[in-house]
Amino acid sequence: MHSLPSNQEIILQGTPVSRGIVIAPAHVSARGFSAPEVYHIPNAYIAKEKGRFETALERTRKQLDSLQTQIEQISGEEEGKIFEAHLMILEDHKLLKRVSDAIDERNQNAEYCFYAVMQTYLEAMRRIQDPYLRERAADIEDVSKRLLRNFNLGDHQDDERPDQQHLLIAYDFSPSDTASIDREQVLGIVTEIGSPNSHTAILARSMGIPAIMGIDNVVMDVQALTMSILDGYSGKLILNPSENTLKEYQRHLKHREEIGEKLKLLKEQEAITLDGHKITLSANMEFDHEIPSFQDSGAKGVGLFRTEFFLLENEEYPSEEEQTALYTKIIEAANGEQVIFRTLDAGGDKLPGEPLPEPEPNPFLGWRGIRFSLARPALFKAQIRAILRASAHGKAGIMFPLISGLHEIHEAKAIVNACMNELHIAGVDFDLGIEIGAMIEVPSAAIMANDIAAEVDFLSIGTNDLIQYTIAVDRVNHRVADLYRSTHPAVLRLMKLTVDGARQNQIWTGVCGEMAGDLNLLPLLVGIGVDELSVGSMTVPIVKQAIRSLDAKECRELAREALACPNSREIYLLSREMAWNAYSELLN
Ligand code: PEP
Ligand code: MG
Repeated sequence: MHSLPSNQEIILQGTPVSRGIVIAPAHVSARGFSAPEVYHIPNAYIAKEKGRFETALERTRKQLDSLQTQIEQISGEEEGKIFEAHLMILEDHKLLKRVSDAIDERNQNAEYCFYAVMQTYLEAMRRIQDPYLRERAADIEDVSKRLLRNFNLGDHQDDERPDQQHLLIAYDFSPSDTASIDREQVLGIVTEIGSPNSHTAILARSMGIPAIMGIDNVVMDVQALTMSILDGYSGKLILNPSENTLKEYQRHLKHREEIGEKLKLLKEQEAITLDGHKITLSANMEFDHEIPSFQDSGAKGVGLFRTEFFLLENEEYPSEEEQTALYTKIIEAANGEQVIFRTLDAGGDKLPGEPLPEPEPNPFLGWRGIRFSLARPALFKAQIRAILRASAHGKAGIMFPLISGLHEIHEAKAIVNACMNELHIAGVDFDLGIEIGAMIEVPSAAIMANDIAAEVDFLSIGTNDLIQYTIAVDRVNHRVADLYRSTHPAVLRLMKLTVDGARQNQIWTGVCGEMAGDLNLLPLLVGIGVDELSVGSMTVPIVKQAIRSLDAKECRELAREALACPNSREIYLLSREMAWNAYSELLN
């Protein structure tokens, strides 16, 4: 255990997951409770410091005792036992000794040492996939918060965020933590775990919050309110930046703002290459509060509306009426352009569709996407009916996630047909010509693209999942992040199979995974012949400018060369070189 010196400039390297630069003090939040201030304790005061710990312990024990009695009187003995578990934690001699040793060894204040020891315990427990231990972790967290408050030292003991704009540093951040972030106060996010293709990263990008992931020990290492720079382009977190570094970053920020202003002028322009090849450039969306940035972005419609964030927001699913209202709102905001609603994609790293008695051993291979919807026809029908009802107000599309073969398409389409019949009989308006599409994100679907394309109106490649399933590499596990390669030859060849399958059936292909917004890989995507790209609203202008700087014929030649190449690094470099020659100013 260590924390870094408090006044030197220090650069920590992580993985950049959401572009942007933030200069602000850091707020360290460790899942529910934040790091207290840390300060040096001279040897002569060590005993006194241990005394402070004893006092806080004693105060906490007394409070827990009295809480236990109160709860027993109100709710019975069983409920009072919760606090017994908390008390037992405070009786754990090994743990108390570790805190005492830490005060001796680190010459730091008692609350910080206590916090650091508890963090190590908590993180070790959370890594274990055992529901009992996870519950104990929640108890430990609870009791730790209480004890920290009992040191009674100012206002950084609990998770109250500082009353100023800040960078949020946490061990991990769930998609729902990210979605509920206070955008006014939290300017950027830094985490220890996570990867660019996790839903947390995707949300950070779509909300325009710069973010870095994968900095080991950052929660322990950074002291509260350290002035920091988050560089979401290079993945650097700079603590205590020097005057020179600050000046350099202020220049960088200004340059970025200038590029941003220029890109705004592209709003009404088409996404068309230098030699006249048009691409439909649409936006990915998750929430209705993104409507203003979607409308500002110059995107042509919505290529992927991830409905799960709305559907799984509360314990109960929203009703058909509530869903119809949301979908209609989005369709109306798109001004006649198409909005493609992806049906519920629960599971994986998102919330499960319903609570399970125990965690799935392999959530990404489990009850996810279309599999869940087909197993819950009443929920699925309510969603389909809502999308159909909303389709009367503009142009909608329905897209099914995690298709692995034809049978799922047949079943899902049968449900759409049944919903259409019901609405027709009830005299409810909907668009009979609504487009139906399949996501291609599983290798089996890419291999079957020709057959699937014969059944639908479009294919949309979900590269985030297609890459993970093709290479067998978990998209959110930073330990294997190195293996997660968008330019793996197998991925590229599966994408080409998909485009060819769609072409043979005269339907269009899009890419709505994060690869669509990777400027280094844009020449490849244009080259293999995708018709549509769907990216976060914030990324639309920069991708549009990049498309307008490319020559489609050259991209096709590049793709031919790349498809024959067996080496992912070489494929990447080929594409990157073309990108660099065409729009180097957008790349860094
Ligand atoms: C994908 O897998 O590429 C995709 C767009 O879906 P999601 O990221 O929501 O899984
Ligand atoms: Mg997916």
